[in-house]
Amino acid sequence: MLPSPRTRYAVIGNPIAHSKSPWIHARFAEQTGEPITYEAILAPVDGFAAQVEAFFASGGGGLNVTVPFKLQAFELARANLSPRARAAGAVNTLWMQDGALHGCNTDGVGLLNDLRRLGARLAGARVLVAGAGGAARGILLPLIEAGCASIDIANRTPSRAQELAAAFSASAGAVMRGGSYADLPADGRWDLVINATASSLDDEAPPLPAGAYAPGGLAYDLMYAARPTAFMRQAAADGAAAVADGLGMLVEQAAESFFIWRGVRPDPGPVLTALRASL
Ligand code: NAP
Repeated sequence: MLPSPRTRYAVIGNPIAHSKSPWIHARFAEQTGEPITYEAILAPVDGFAAQVEAFFASGGGGLNVTVPFKLQAFELARANLSPRARAAGAVNTLWMQDGALHGCNTDGVGLLNDLRRLGARLAGARVLVAGAGGAARGILLPLIEAGCASIDIANRTPSRAQELAAAFSASAGAVMRGGSYADLPADGRWDLVINATASSLDDEAPPLPAGAYAPGGLAYDLMYAARPTAFMRQAAADGAAAVADGLGMLVEQAAESFFIWRGVRPDPGPVLTALRASL
């Protein structure tokens, strides 16, 4: 796809004041010399579609979509969804192409890129995903495509984990299992444990069995914070070899959106370093 002649971009959500996306994309623009502007748009909870329409009608080039609108963005772009968006069932990146709204989801590839930056070996890995909401759904296909051997999904509401595992088992090279935390084997020993729950918002860790980490095991919290989250502290105490939060994923998913819109790939590394220092 050719870079868009449109130069106005934004993130849209509710709430939105906390978003780091305008800062990240401003750094990408400086780094690449792409002549873009990027702002934050607060959409009324019942006014997302109208805001999107107005944004593109006034010459907007692309939108990042965040809570609580990713499912509505999926519906708006339903006629032109990328395979990543279809697998995730949600859209975080919108753009106009040949007069039609297109949608992609860059969260999963953002996570994969960050895991690779951290040196995680995914081919043949045994993975545990805690949580079965939108973020969990968005990361499953990239993990399967990266060659993970098995993916266990555990969730507070077990039926959602079972549904997710069933939805992906047909297309999976990986063994998929879903259920409650109590169903997890006590000697699971996962190579990678991903916290895709919102529990860290309450400074709580999901109820994982003790001894969850294989030698060299990595713990990754999709949430990020200035200090280690409850999940990261739990993992360190349980013997994880490395722990990380989701700040790298945030920068990587932004880089992938930037690439979709502009056809230029920014370098996430220095932006992540500067963002970390600012937290
Ligand atoms: P969501 O769709 O609302 O799902 C929330 C999930 O968390 C559900 O599985 C829910 O379980 C579980 N949960 C909530 N509170 C819990 C608790 N106290 N204990 C155990 N489980 C709990 O949210 P989401 O969009 O998937 O987002 C999940 C997290 O990922 C958020 O923290 C978000 O900030 C983060 N995220 C980060 C990035 C990034 O770029 N770093 C990108 C996307 C998302 P039930 O099903 O039982 O309710």
